[in-house]
Amino acid sequence: MSYKCDVVVVGGGISGMAAAKLLHDSGLNVVVLEARDRVGGRTYTIRNQNVKYVDLGGSYVGPTQNRILRLAKELGLETYRVNDVEYQIHHVKGKSYPFKGPFPPVWNPITYLDHNNLWRTMDDMGQEIPSDAPWKAPLAEEWDHMTMKELLNKICWTSFPCPLSPVFQVSRLLHVEWVARHGGAPRVTARWEAESGRSLEPGSSSLFERMVNVFFHLVIFQDFCGTMVIEGEEAPVAYTLDDTKPDGNYAAIMGFILAHKARKLARLTKEERLKKLCELYAKVLGSKEALKPVHYEEKNWCEEQYSGGCYTTYFPPGIMTQYGRVLRQPVGRIFFAGTETATHWSGYMEGAVEAGERAAREVLHAIGKIPEDEIWQPEPESVDVPAQPITTTFLERHLPSVPGLLRLIGLTTVVSAIALGFLAHKRGLLLRI
Ligand SMILES: Cc1cc2nc3c(=O)[nH]c(=O)nc-3n(C[C@H](O)[C@H](O)[C@H](O)COP(=O)(O)OP(=O)(O)OC[C@H]3O[C@@H](n4cnc5c(N)ncnc54)[C@H](O)[C@@H]3O)c2cc1C
Repeated sequence: MSYKCDVVVVGGGISGMAAAKLLHDSGLNVVVLEARDRVGGRTYTIRNQNVKYVDLGGSYVGPTQNRILRLAKELGLETYRVNDVEYQIHHVKGKSYPFKGPFPPVWNPITYLDHNNLWRTMDDMGQEIPSDAPWKAPLAEEWDHMTMKELLNKICWTSFPCPLSPVFQVSRLLHVEWVARHGGAPRVTARWEAESGRSLEPGSSSLFERMVNVFFHLVIFQDFCGTMVIEGEEAPVAYTLDDTKPDGNYAAIMGFILAHKARKLARLTKEERLKKLCELYAKVLGSKEALKPVHYEEKNWCEEQYSGGCYTTYFPPGIMTQYGRVLRQPVGRIFFAGTETATHWSGYMEGAVEAGERAAREVLHAIGKIPEDEIWQPEPESVDVPAQPITTTFLERHLPSVPGLLRLIGLTTVVSAIALGFLAHKRGLLLRI
């Protein structure tokens, strides 16, 4: 079979398909070459009578992700809020505590100061990193050669916030840049997925059907909403979300098994994994009902030859400053897309659309259809999912760090001692020796 075409797009993930769509809409003949027997790449929706539909790959979208929201709307997909109305559970040191709001509460004031200082420091550092060229940050070399774990060791006096453990070996420059590009620590740590995150209905793969470590899915019943933050090395799952459909049917919990825990569990059989997960949920929920799941779906993204793991590529130290500048550089008539080349929401579906459309416009520019200054285009804010302002309190902005507090106490002690000494001297209470 032979095709005559203007552009060949290699890879039918979101980025490739967004590029193909824009080129097609611009009047070019496009062929998409996909290695798998399906399009969608790291998004993958399965459908059956037990789940109706469920995303085992990319799923959640949220405020400031205006390109993917625009594309979804254009293709007739709806979005719905992830349910976080009821209590969520924080499981730590073998005990479960209900909580509401974006974070499990931190009761220890020293830990609170420590975490507050960490997020604030990361935000301040993020301001110094240009989104389209992180390697140009004033301290790029130094930051890129340090892992996140080294940064945490340097800044934190108490235990690290648990969501950061999967990024320990990642370059500090890369992770801080990533946090900054996603709206800063408050937006990322406010868990946009649960706070104002939305799922695509009916599943993210519908994007593709209409255009041409989510690791497992477990269905049970319970009183809480499905969000659980589970700390502890022995717990296979660190974080879950409620995956119930918007009409309240198909009650489900979606959980992530990350990094070394995923590698460990991948050695077990599906039945053994399910047993471990049910036992964990029974413990966290305090309910034996969790031992009797009505259905279970799972996906191991590490064994996907054309994804190589999930959910994005994280660079170890040194890579960004050495190779970052050639990530998007065309080679002859070859142009590069993919979420990892995005300047905003890299690693997410939003980043994939940005990169695909940018690469498509680079092609249009190369064949003389558009001027160079039209390659990068700003995206208007979604009217359906507008960004809410992220506010910080006076205390969050001004509370001292732990070393700052110690210095303050030390200074206060010295000043008090001097003042007392002065008073004593004035009253003649000090003896001359
Ligand atoms: C478990 C999981 C959970 C996630 N959760 C979210 C989420 O909640 N929200 C979010 O926004 N994002 C999420 N993501 C990330 C999101 O899915 C990805 O960022 C996005 O889908 C990447 O799209 P892409 O087109 O850049 O890359 P890919 O989807 O990887 O597409 C690349 C395509 O190229 C094909 N290909 C590779 N090599 C070749 C070759 N040699 N020849 C031809 N074709 C080839 C691949 O098969 C694939 O189809 C998640 C991902 C995973 C895996």
